[in-house]
Amino acid sequence: MIELIEKYDGYIIDLDGVIYLDKKPLSYSKTFINTLIKKNKNYVFLTNDSTLSPSQYTKILNREGIKCSSNQVITPINNFIETIRSKNKKTLAFCSKELRKFLIKEGLNIINNKNYKQAKNLLVSGNKDFSYDDLMYSSLCVQNGAKLYATSIDNSYPTKMGNVPATGSIIAAILKTHDTRVINLGKPSKEIFKLAINKLKNKKNKILTIGDNLNTDIQGSNDSGIDSLLVLTGKTNMKLVKESKTNPTYIKKNLKV
Ligand SMILES: [Mg+2]
Repeated sequence: MIELIEKYDGYIIDLDGVIYLDKKPLSYSKTFINTLIKKNKNYVFLTNDSTLSPSQYTKILNREGIKCSSNQVITPINNFIETIRSKNKKTLAFCSKELRKFLIKEGLNIINNKNYKQAKNLLVSGNKDFSYDDLMYSSLCVQNGAKLYATSIDNSYPTKMGNVPATGSIIAAILKTHDTRVINLGKPSKEIFKLAINKLKNKKNKILTIGDNLNTDIQGSNDSGIDSLLVLTGKTNMKLVKESKTNPTYIKKNLKV
């Protein structure tokens, strides 16, 4: 691992299945980040999880001893704000309460369910409180011509119990009701990788993406022309690597330095 740390100057690091599982640090992740700091490397965390606001992830990471500032955490919500801010049309958001508060604080034009007919944008972000009503109004918005933005199209995310439904599973239910184009704000979209690259300010050939998901972390990194390291501490095992057409630059069991 140390030879990789010597080779690259900027790191785009996934959270779930790389740094932590169920928000508890995985072995070696703290030491890995401390080594990056010691060696004056740049790093940002790039997660498809949008249950919380970027500053809330920062608080959790710091609480668990993983050093970062809120400027170093990028989620699909940053991409959403960046994408719609200039037009700021009426938006219906189905997301966690924390995230809704954050969107309002950021000045977005967030409307209530009962005004669903006015929505020009629809944001869907999986969360534990997502209800049948949320699904119903989402489908109605889409039928009324609102643009559908998803914080990710991942069908599942890893927990200690196993892989559980993610935003992609909810999007699938909306599309079963009314088919439409989905704008994916999360990885592997090039736009979210661009946010991370711009923040790091390193040359692309000096940046390494670290992730546990071939379809999001590694695919997105490949599409953006950045080297990648797949770690096997989350979603992917060697059997899945062999079956996949998406190839990381490097594979390691974990982040052990
Ligand atoms: Mg992950």
